[in-house]
Amino acid sequence: MSQLFISYIALGSNLEDPIVHLNEALLEIKALPNTKITQASQFYRTKPIGPEQPDIINAVIKVETGLAPYDLLHALQKIELEHGRERIIRFGARTLDLDILLFNDVQMNDAELTIPHPRMQDRNFVLIPLKEIAPDLHLAPFGHIDDLITRNDPEDYVIPLDFEALGNKS
Ligand code: ADP
Ligand code: MG
Repeated sequence: MSQLFISYIALGSNLEDPIVHLNEALLEIKALPNTKITQASQFYRTKPIGPEQPDIINAVIKVETGLAPYDLLHALQKIELEHGRERIIRFGARTLDLDILLFNDVQMNDAELTIPHPRMQDRNFVLIPLKEIAPDLHLAPFGHIDDLITRNDPEDYVIPLDFEALGNKS
């Protein structure tokens, strides 16, 4: 049997119907060769970074996969493209963004792929969904997930959609 790796992947969308894009992406990731989703956070509505644009819907999943890092990256990029993803403005609005956060305990940094994801430690819209499925995570280069969340900007809103559905406002 081939080796299985654990990876955490962040999903985000803020164009067209973000919830549909995220739900479809979950099915498409599940259908990748030798890959299964073992945990998924709920969906969160979060404050975008970059130019003026709609709120983003974010989630984080844990997968078990036989795909090597570049194979996983390319498979995720293919899914992004199938969702009409265009890279026009950096940090601009997007139909679907799929980022590899962690991949086993791999640490790598080249032109195409950096793991752990280079900006994850600064982004509560990544860390809060990640904490939901991995509450005790210690990020090797950065520290404990709780400390990172506390350190980041408290003005960033990261609101669970289930919470909103109960009539709560931010
Ligand atoms: P962002 O996710 O920061 O908004 P993009 O999705 O447009 O930006 O990705 C830009 C580039 O980031 C991709 O072409 C990809 O090669 C590179 N990249 C580097 N590390 C990663 C990673 N861990 N996960 C996903 N893409 C990555
Ligand atoms: Mg990306």
